[in-house]
Amino acid sequence: MNPRIYLDNAATTRIAPEVLEAMLPYLRDYYGNPSAFSEEGRQARYGVETSRKSIASKLNCKPGEIIFTSCGTEANNLALRGAVRSLGIREIITSRIEHHAVLNTVRDLAQNGEVKLNYVALLPDGSVDLSDLQHLLVASKGKTLVSLMHANNETGMLLDLKEAGAICKKHGALLHSDCVQTIGHLPIDLSALPVDMISGSGHKFHGPKGIGILFVREGLPLRGVITGGSQERGIRAGTENVAGTVGFARALDLALQQIEADTEHLHMLKQTLKTRLAELGCAFNGDADQSLGTVLSVRFPKNNETENILFELDRNGISASGGSACNAGKGSHVMEVIGARDYVNVRFSFSRYNSIEDILKLVTVLETRVFCYSKV
Ligand code: PLP
Repeated sequence: MNPRIYLDNAATTRIAPEVLEAMLPYLRDYYGNPSAFSEEGRQARYGVETSRKSIASKLNCKPGEIIFTSCGTEANNLALRGAVRSLGIREIITSRIEHHAVLNTVRDLAQNGEVKLNYVALLPDGSVDLSDLQHLLVASKGKTLVSLMHANNETGMLLDLKEAGAICKKHGALLHSDCVQTIGHLPIDLSALPVDMISGSGHKFHGPKGIGILFVREGLPLRGVITGGSQERGIRAGTENVAGTVGFARALDLALQQIEADTEHLHMLKQTLKTRLAELGCAFNGDADQSLGTVLSVRFPKNNETENILFELDRNGISASGGSACNAGKGSHVMEVIGARDYVNVRFSFSRYNSIEDILKLVTVLETRVFCYSKV
């Protein structure tokens, strides 16, 4: 049987064998509660704290600035709800193309009357219009939090965090960035970035599911939103996912060790697919040459052949997606906002485990199963 071709790495990635190896002792042998006063507790605590230190050193921040959460969604909730509850935030500026972990959270806060919500304008390529951010901040009243994702999970379009952060600082606003699609894919140096909080998630870069982080800049008196024990310095109650923290740290370590080789490999895969699809007459969402190397968002014309494209690909052993997996079947709010609603949009997302043969097989399947009747 031919192995399947997995091109849905923005939804989740396969765990790296090295990560699984590092986690196994913490699943099997070191089962103590990291808050317990016992040898078993100390062993587990060692796993959590060495992971925290390792992650902090890779992101160039202090270990105390890393809070472990259960996932990226929770990290975003903690940043946004925590900021409103404990930092006096009364206005949030975000974009309409954020992940639902941000969008539904800010909408909930606004519906409860806790904040005023403003959406920043987008440029034609789907990136954030930073001059509009500047205008919104000039007009904002009260303490403001800006929440903008580092890379969009559907188009891969990137935000210049340095510039966005400088604008926020100039106007006294806080900046949170959902970096779920970029941690482990792009180098992030928090000592050089004017951001206050960033969110990350282990399963997007060959780590395990069920572990996330929120970086909270030292001195920001963020309080938690889950009540319970005093874990994570009282900011995130609940027993830590010990093996998850170890997996996150090992995955980040691995990703950054081989970032140059992986980046080059991903670029080659993406460019090959882009060139072949352009020859077939396809267009792309966002600026495919400027976007995140792991994502290529393709516009197929709507017709009988393309209507069931994901099904046809799946039947032929290829996994891709129509957008965010968390919202599968509901249509994409991102495609709606960037004006791609009239196309069949498919996101192909790559990882270091994909080969050029995967891309060539995909192109063959598209040519023989989707474009066999009519050219675009
Ligand atoms: N933010 C972005 C940009 C994402 O792509 C995702 C996952 O798809 C999330 C947040 C949610 O992360 P998690 O699955 O860890 O809750």
